[in-house]
Amino acid sequence: MDIRFKSIKGMNDILPPESNIWINLEHLLREHFFMAGFREIRTPILEYFELFVRGIGEGTDIVEKEMYSFKDKDGEMITLRPEGTAPVVRAIIEHNFLKHDGICRFFYLGPMFRYERPQKGRLRQFHQFGAEVFGIQDGSIDGELIFLGVSLLNKLGVQERDFITKVNSLGCIECRKGFRESLVVFLNKSKDSFCDDCKRRILTNPLRVLDCKNDSCRALTQDAPCTVDYLCEGCSKHFDEVKRALKCFEIKYEIDSRLVRGLDYYSRTTFEIQITNNLLGSQNTVIAGGRYNSLFKDFVGEDYPAIGFAGGIERLLEVIDKKLIEPKEKLRVSFMSDLASFDVRDVLVVQKLREAGIEVEVDLATKSYKSKFKRADRNQSTFAIIKGEDEKKGGYYTVKDLRLSINSEDKQFRIKPEELCNEILRRKEIEWS
Ligand SMILES: [Zn+2]
Ligand SMILES: [Zn+2]
Repeated sequence: MDIRFKSIKGMNDILPPESNIWINLEHLLREHFFMAGFREIRTPILEYFELFVRGIGEGTDIVEKEMYSFKDKDGEMITLRPEGTAPVVRAIIEHNFLKHDGICRFFYLGPMFRYERPQKGRLRQFHQFGAEVFGIQDGSIDGELIFLGVSLLNKLGVQERDFITKVNSLGCIECRKGFRESLVVFLNKSKDSFCDDCKRRILTNPLRVLDCKNDSCRALTQDAPCTVDYLCEGCSKHFDEVKRALKCFEIKYEIDSRLVRGLDYYSRTTFEIQITNNLLGSQNTVIAGGRYNSLFKDFVGEDYPAIGFAGGIERLLEVIDKKLIEPKEKLRVSFMSDLASFDVRDVLVVQKLREAGIEVEVDLATKSYKSKFKRADRNQSTFAIIKGEDEKKGGYYTVKDLRLSINSEDKQFRIKPEELCNEILRRKEIEWS
């Protein structure tokens, strides 16, 4: 096929009937956040390049290698959003939300873009949902937000035994100084045995060595110092609040000192919800988040309490109970006619059926009635309503119940236009054996 008629590598079409599942999952996600007092924020897919450099950070894989950035016709460097948090922060600052109301709860949903080597579980256009809370310093909100993630998985039918919630505290810039020193001393003891990336990280961003996916690096950092042992009084009190909140919400969790998020603006709480039943292999994190108060420093000159999480919709679809988001079977009928027979009274009947919750495909175009029936069959219509020349003369419709065999007495009947809708609804309930 001509390459111009293929979708870009790593960017998938979502086609029916699969798109129905997406609609239902998105509906369920929106409802989940709405019911918890969150409101949807929709930011543009394009933002200025600088936003992500400042919001995600230079030296990160995303900014260095994975962003889709290009110059527009004015020579502005713009980027297809690789994640949702920086745009949300940009939007609430731009629209003065924090001045109107110190506390905001927002969620978002939509496509994100990263220029990665396409492989299983790694798309260039993928979809994320996320929640962000601004203006609450107290550790209780960290617990509440983790609960929001856990209860989402519960709602989607993921069994308690199939996931695990991991929590950590990174402390603040102050407590991290002491931790960083001890970590560098520890890493330097075996620095020649780390992978090349980690050798570089020891010098540039030693925390990131802890989340290297390489097995041998992980083994080397088995007994590395833990951030929670270096917390200052304020951070330690905050982490106690988080743990108390998790207890109140009855969330089972583990403290995992590898959840470090090597970005400078992350402080205090980080967390991940990981699937443990092998459905996702090593890319098993479905929800990940943390506190990022100091991200605001870059934008408004001072810290502001902020915490959030993001989750991948494609990954979620791999692990949830699909039955819960399968589309409900709607009654579908094919209204078969032609321009010589069809008139405005039929339009009214069609509208009445649609208002009663019945899907109606009007087929005026297909040449023969034989091929109209073939179409109806492909569409899985339950009834065919026919308005041909005879029906027009006689002032009735012919209805065929497509569920029944051709020999059945009930297969076909005539009906007056004003009685059609009720009769279809009545017959829909009949289960033919
Ligand atoms: Zn601290
Ligand atoms: Zn490594």
